[in-house]
Amino acid sequence: MSTAKLTIDLDALVTNWRSLDAKTNCETAAVVKANGYGLDAARVAKALAAGGARNFFVAAAEEGVVLRRALGAGPGISVFSGHMEGDTKLLQEFQLTPMLNSLDQMLRHFERLPGHPFGVQLDTGMNRLGMEPGEWAAVREIALGQGPVLLMSHLACADEPAHPMNAHQLQSFRDMTDGIEVPRSLAATGGLLLGPDYHFDLCRPGIGLYGGLPFSQAMPVVHLDLPVIQTRDLAAGETVGYGNTWTAKRPTRIATVAAGYADGLIRAMGSGGIHVFAEATPCPVVGRVSMDLITVDVTDIAEVPANLSLINEAQTVDVVANAAGSIGYEILTSLGHRYARTYKG
Ligand SMILES: *Cc1c(COP(=O)(O)O)cnc(C)c1O
Repeated sequence: MSTAKLTIDLDALVTNWRSLDAKTNCETAAVVKANGYGLDAARVAKALAAGGARNFFVAAAEEGVVLRRALGAGPGISVFSGHMEGDTKLLQEFQLTPMLNSLDQMLRHFERLPGHPFGVQLDTGMNRLGMEPGEWAAVREIALGQGPVLLMSHLACADEPAHPMNAHQLQSFRDMTDGIEVPRSLAATGGLLLGPDYHFDLCRPGIGLYGGLPFSQAMPVVHLDLPVIQTRDLAAGETVGYGNTWTAKRPTRIATVAAGYADGLIRAMGSGGIHVFAEATPCPVVGRVSMDLITVDVTDIAEVPANLSLINEAQTVDVVANAAGSIGYEILTSLGHRYARTYKG
């Protein structure tokens, strides 16, 4: 078998949700956009629902449909992109709650789906989604008259606790929502970790559930094992891979493993000091990452095992991301479709 094996630990995922939930006195939802950060939104959400999560967030109504089919009636499913043209039927049929981002969306929603639950997303400085303070001031009485179920905003710099933007956005959110008797939500994973001032009534972690930073205490959720296809012995001076970028300085044993940039292992990590592991022993990745193959210096291990591990407790998604100048979010959501996926728990 020459496909790499991706193991997704749903027990670790639920443990991470519970650990984050235990840090707050408020409701803890789960963000499962982008197909559950690449790990299969249906499986992820079912595990989290069984573990106690009652509210889920997705980016688009279509993702909400997949989720509703998986979860059945009951759990709340909210849509960050709001009520777009063409969403009306889906929002209604699959009981999805749009987070309205603009006056246009609000008018559309009240006209097409009167009485259908909605929330309002406010822009507190990120300038990405949501109503700006002036726009909100103009429409808030109308919006509040229709009974929103949530007022939310999103932090731009929450993974940097000392960044002044955090306090600035908190103040802006308070200015826009203090005194309103509607549940409020400001924090994703980073904001939840900033402490109780940021929690309000509901936190919306994503990345921390999947084992990624900034939740440094997270249990790893993803393990990736790559089968060794071939080994060969090189004399000093021989080169490895495209572009001859790596030269053996000593007699070297090279193992070729089955996974490459077509599987989400981006090329940039080839020069980033990444290893694969034979049990606990790190073996350096050498030469360029190819489309389907990676080459590894296994000279220092006595026996080359059938599989070498690329993502594990020692080398997390964030370590791999860092080596490639990327972030854990991008590594997770790029995990390839060729992997044989196994779900534990
Ligand atoms: C993606 C996203 C989240 C989750 O963020 P994490 O950093 O993954 O915890 C929460 N809220 C909004 C609006 C988002 O776009």
